[in-house]
Formats: sequence, C-alpha cells, structure tokens
Amino acid sequence: MSTISALDLQAFYPEELKILNVENRKEEIKIYMHSVSKTCRCHRCGKILNEHHGSHHRTVQDLPILGKRVSLDMQIYDYECTCNEKGTYAPTETFDGFLSHNSRMTDRLEDFICMLALETSCESSARIMNRLNVKVSGDTVIRILIKRYKNQPVPTCSNAVGIDDFAFKKRHTYGTIIVDEETHRPVAVLEGRDGKTLKEWLRQNQHVTTVTRDRASAYAKAVEEVLPDCMQIADRFHIHQNLMDAVNKVLCREIPASTVIPKNAVPPDPDQMELSTVLQVEGKKNRSHCG
Ligand SMILES: [Zn+2]
Repeated sequence: MSTISALDLQAFYPEELKILNVENRKEEIKIYMHSVSKTCRCHRCGKILNEHHGSHHRTVQDLPILGKRVSLDMQIYDYECTCNEKGTYAPTETFDGFLSHNSRMTDRLEDFICMLALETSCESSARIMNRLNVKVSGDTVIRILIKRYKNQPVPTCSNAVGIDDFAFKKRHTYGTIIVDEETHRPVAVLEGRDGKTLKEWLRQNQHVTTVTRDRASAYAKAVEEVLPDCMQIADRFHIHQNLMDAVNKVLCREIPASTVIPKNAVPPDPDQMELSTVLQVEGKKNRSHCG
C-alpha cells in the first residue's frame, strides 16, 4: 500500500469533493474524499438548496487508471427541499453531473460503458470492463442503458413523420419506430406493431399532419382514428417492396425451379435459340423450391 503524491488527482475531481487520502493497492486505487459543498440543486424542482439534511457514506467506481479499479470512498451531504408534498425531501449531491442520484458509478464511467455497449454489446462491454478491473455485469449495463433512455428529454418532431415496424426478436417481439421526415432522426420507439401504442403517441402529437407508412392496415387505422385529417402516404420503399414480392410470386409460378440440360447437348446458337427447346420443365415438385 502506498500513497500517490506525484499526480495532482484533485484536478480530475470536482472542487467540492476534497481528496483526503489515496491508497494504491494491488488491483485497486482507493480514493477517500469528502464533500465541502455549501449548496446543491434539487434534481426534482431545480431549486438551489443550502440546508444540510444530513450526510451519508457511499462507495462508487470511477474510470480505471492503467488497469486498476478506481474506487471513491465518499462522505457526501443530503440537502433539504420542500418540493415533496408528503414531507421533507432530501436530495443527494450530484456535483454538477459528476454523480447521478444514488448511482454506484460516476457519470463518466457510465458514459464510457454505454459507448462500449453501443459499439459492441452489453455482454461484450461488461467483459472488457472486467478486464480493466471494473466490476460490472451485462445486466447492469442493460439497466444503465434503460435508465439513460428513460431520462432522455422527449424529442419534438416536425409535422411529417414516417412510421414502420421492426423486430426486437424476429418472429417473436416487434416494435414500432417513428422517424422525423425533416431531420431523418428517430423520435420514438414504441412497443408492439398493432397500432395501440401508436394511437397513444399520436394523441400526444396532434400537430402531425403527414404520415408515411407501409401498406399494413394497423397503422392506417390508428392514424385514421386519432388524426382523421392527417395525410397518409404509402412510401416508395414499401410500394417497391410489394411490387417485387408480386413479381417474384409470378416468376416462381411461371418459370421452373430447375432445368435439365441433355448430355452431349450441342450448345445452341444464341441467335437461333428458342426457350422451349432448351428448358425442360421438371414438374410441380421442383417448383416448390422456388421463393
Ligand atoms: Zn426540490
């Protein structure tokens, strides 16, 4: 065990979190710190608070240093706020985005884990972080991603949106995605594709005047029911897809799946070739292989 003194660690932490001591252990750097804050912003009502309600001890993980886990042993304050109708509310310090409410990781560590998860997968990011001596499981990574998704501000959208379904898990679970036609960015991901969740979303976004969609009836009915004056457009992608499906069915019905070329057959002169003399239909059995 030794104390790090060459590096000014305090510069990497909020001014209101004073470092008391640092222990450099075999797989972990333990940093003891305590809060010296005088004010705190309530994360519910936004009010600046200056009354301490109490303090508590918390251990959180921070970004690793050279493969060693960094563990912050903190004594931090709870403040008093009157925004809770049922009694005194005691929000905990967050140090301007350094720490989330009740989180066991700093926000910057969560940022890094989320970035890894989005580039790879939840399980892969957990395995990489474990190699860096950060304790996190795949389930925790999923929970962090869900928490961050729910905390996102609800995006606004223009009056023209595109609606389509997608598979969370093919043939099992489907969802509905709504994309702003002006920015080409997703504005909502809804559960199911039967139109129920879409109706709810449309009721909260009554400014929508144009919807592009596929030719399935569920979305058409939902839009018609909630926004009867909304213009519905069957988009080019789905019309093209429907056309190709129809052409494929006709080709499968009219053209055999395989042909038999007679042994020792003399290659015909392409200019003189007639299709019926070269191709021999094998029968209905082979047609089933097509499409
Ligand atoms: Zn409050």
